[in-house]
Amino acid sequence: LADADLSLPQALRDIHRLAVEQPIEGKVADYIPALATADAIRCGIAFATLDGEVHTAGDAELPFSIQSISKVFGLVLAMQRMGDGLWRRVGMEPSGQPFNSIVQLEWEHGIPRNPFINAGAILVADTLVAHFSSSRQAFLSFVRRLAGSEYCDVNDEVLASETRHGSRNAALAYLMKSFGNLEAEVDEVLAHYFFQCSVEMSCKELATSLLFLANQGMHPITGEKVTSPRDAHRVNAILSTSGMYDQSGQFAFAVGLPAKSGVGGGIVAIVPGHGVIAAWSPPLNRHGNSTRGLSMITELASRLGLSIF
Ligand code: GLN
Repeated sequence: LADADLSLPQALRDIHRLAVEQPIEGKVADYIPALATADAIRCGIAFATLDGEVHTAGDAELPFSIQSISKVFGLVLAMQRMGDGLWRRVGMEPSGQPFNSIVQLEWEHGIPRNPFINAGAILVADTLVAHFSSSRQAFLSFVRRLAGSEYCDVNDEVLASETRHGSRNAALAYLMKSFGNLEAEVDEVLAHYFFQCSVEMSCKELATSLLFLANQGMHPITGEKVTSPRDAHRVNAILSTSGMYDQSGQFAFAVGLPAKSGVGGGIVAIVPGHGVIAAWSPPLNRHGNSTRGLSMITELASRLGLSIF
């Protein structure tokens, strides 16, 4: 990557141009009205490196709905608070099922397969609600500190929409509650979960905020020790097997980086020892992953030889 650093800005520009020249494939998320209005032609990419540089192309500074990418921040915050006890309440196996699937949750007695599907993130939200006097404020301060930006905030319209159309997530929460795996009140847990999904950040902010995962748990810009090296490795391991939902295997095969997507069209990919890529384009494939985001990250990883495998 050292030589590639010199040509990184050029590579990003090329890859972004290639992506926007292709016809738009996929469909903008429409499970809530507030996301259905996202502009399908928006497209951006950022690569933040451990030395503090952020290279960008396209709409890399426009905030968008981070949605499931919030599951990474939630998990790290819960790991800080809960220690290894967390892993008695949530698993670490890929689900092979869509992100909001409910079937395995009954088979596995209310223990979600991993923290990056909805059930798992709702379980993590429960631990945050139980451990913080104001988990939503704690979440937002955490993200702002990592991103180095006071501007990261919740979109109230998305939050209202998530809350109003959240029946599936409520079903997941009640099922876990019925198995005794949820401590706090369901309404409070869901309020936290919908809040974190509704936070907006740009590619630039996202890439910067997750640099600690590429750096053994230490944020290279703030100097904060966010996790131990062991926990950074664990988060990256689960991102590699479960971060792209039921497309995680294919993503590992084609790209080979720990990554997380969200239905707002964002994808973050960790390049251990080097930095973090964040890509954004709202239209999604049938797995809920951004089509142009996937093609940009796949192309960049292949040009620069980034696969960890
Ligand atoms: N808010 C979305 C949901 O709960 C997040 C899912 C996602 O980004 N995949 O359904």
